[in-house]
Amino acid sequence: MTPADRLATGTLRLLKPPPRLSLPDWVEAEFRLPERSSAQPGRFNLWKYQRGWLEAIGDPLVPRVTLMKAARLGFSKCLIATIGSYACNDPCSVILLVPTDDDARRYAVDEVEPSFEESPALHDLIQRGRLDGRNTLVMKAFNAGGSLKILAARAPRNLRMHDAKVLLIDEADAMEVTVEGDPILLAEKRTVAHPDRKIVCGSTPTSEDTSVVARRFDESTQEVFEVPCPECGVFNEISWSNIEWNSGEPETAQYMCPHCKGMIDERRKPGMVDNGRWRALKPDVVGHRGFRINALVSMLPNASWGQLAREYLDAKRGGPHMMQVFYNTVLAKPWRTTINRVDASMLADRAEPWGLPTVGHGMIVPDDVVLITAGVDMQDDRVECTLIGFSVFGAPCILGHVVFPGNTLEDGVWKTLDGFLKTKWRHPNGWAIGIDGTAIDSGGRGGRTQRVYDFAYPRMSRYIFAIKGLPGPRKIWTKLTSVKGDMRAFGVAVDVLKTEVLDRLAREPFNEDGSENPQAFRLSDQLTDEFLEQSCNETRRIRFVKNRPIIEFQPKRAGAPTEALDCIVYALAVRQSPSVRSIDLRERAARRQVIGEQPPKQNAGGWAEKFAAL
Ligand SMILES: [Zn+2]
Repeated sequence: MTPADRLATGTLRLLKPPPRLSLPDWVEAEFRLPERSSAQPGRFNLWKYQRGWLEAIGDPLVPRVTLMKAARLGFSKCLIATIGSYACNDPCSVILLVPTDDDARRYAVDEVEPSFEESPALHDLIQRGRLDGRNTLVMKAFNAGGSLKILAARAPRNLRMHDAKVLLIDEADAMEVTVEGDPILLAEKRTVAHPDRKIVCGSTPTSEDTSVVARRFDESTQEVFEVPCPECGVFNEISWSNIEWNSGEPETAQYMCPHCKGMIDERRKPGMVDNGRWRALKPDVVGHRGFRINALVSMLPNASWGQLAREYLDAKRGGPHMMQVFYNTVLAKPWRTTINRVDASMLADRAEPWGLPTVGHGMIVPDDVVLITAGVDMQDDRVECTLIGFSVFGAPCILGHVVFPGNTLEDGVWKTLDGFLKTKWRHPNGWAIGIDGTAIDSGGRGGRTQRVYDFAYPRMSRYIFAIKGLPGPRKIWTKLTSVKGDMRAFGVAVDVLKTEVLDRLAREPFNEDGSENPQAFRLSDQLTDEFLEQSCNETRRIRFVKNRPIIEFQPKRAGAPTEALDCIVYALAVRQSPSVRSIDLRERAARRQVIGEQPPKQNAGGWAEKFAAL
């Protein structure tokens, strides 16, 4: 080589840009996790499965990536790191679509801003955006033509104004179809002008019938994360059926290798995950990589096998809704409801000899019931109230149903209801038992809605709440913002709860060996045929709105009354309200074994703190 050649080669080498890092390598080198929202702040040391996701997201030949995943696997962090990489390496328009305004704000303030501030490679990008004055809370401007918009699916109108090459979707299954359409499809429409677009859709799955992420996963390469057994070396996806523990000792949970039957200790998990790999069940699918992963390979300390076994046992006691949450958020599985035919005569056969014989004059409850909730439905000419009793281990007991006639625009019926809600009954064990919390429907009845607010608000210290049923998949309790002044009312996820009620009614309360099934309901023989009829007067069906399946409840016949079902739903909701769900039934049952001890006084101010977190 002549000196001139050498010089030329050297110059070329100097001119050549540094080799471009793959997305996972860039993330590990340049991205920093902020202290505010990370268990391990600082450099982002990717777990093996996260590397797989980011390789797919960073691959220009893959326009679509789908993740059906459990919680606690660090997906949100990976999305933020992806945003960082686009801002730094490929400035373009990015939309991050999340379910609600609150989610958008949380992402912006707790995740994006601090990550950009703490990552040297990104620090200046967000600064520059700020100086432009173009940053709003949910919109970040980057330099050189890049931008990030964090949008809430609840307000799909927003989507019309924006256009993006990259669309990142978090918690797709929590996004409802609104009158304006399916927010996910609307958002995808905003990307069609970009031939090199990228759509990343991640979610914990919800119901099998309606899950967006499960349907997309089916259309993808269907990749599963497999880890080698440290004993025999055979690769398997860790599934829940392979987790075993000594009865009553969830902390002893271990993984049993389905191949060699070796019992594998939690301490070997990091090594297994480090050597794990993604395997496609449908490797021939092109352009759409999909991943399925459960929390059994999560490396977070709060997702140890022992901890998850404990959560499973709690969910089992908690009933179908809690079990669905476990399936969705831990096992990353869509939930199949067992709702099937249930009719009043089946329910009548199950009735048991306890209940509410006459209003205010003694009630017999099964002796293990330690907490009672009330659900109240309001009509023009009456209010109806159902009581449900809860025990530590068994199924909830529908104790009774009372109808109070009277014009609900006048005071009389409310006075009667108030007296009833204060009633104390003698528990079979000798102590006095009363109602621990009440939800009253205020929905859609003009001046009557205000009557419910006027009744409930001054009684919130007794855990009496005005509520309004909200459809679709959502958290059971939310604060309603539409209520004027300092009144408070709460949204309750009635479709979620109706699914649970119908599911429970369809199950037998006792197993063949005589043991109690906590996933069912027990029923009093004081409940009338009319009540039993009404409690199964709605059916659940799937309807397609703009190609997206949604769950709907419909009366079996037009105009069939459903007050009983509504009351059961509201009473069940109370148990899950922030005030009542923190009551420890085990502790209460233990204390009540001392005959005659009175229930402790409720902390009158407690509700405010507890609901503040909503
Ligand atoms: Zn093995």
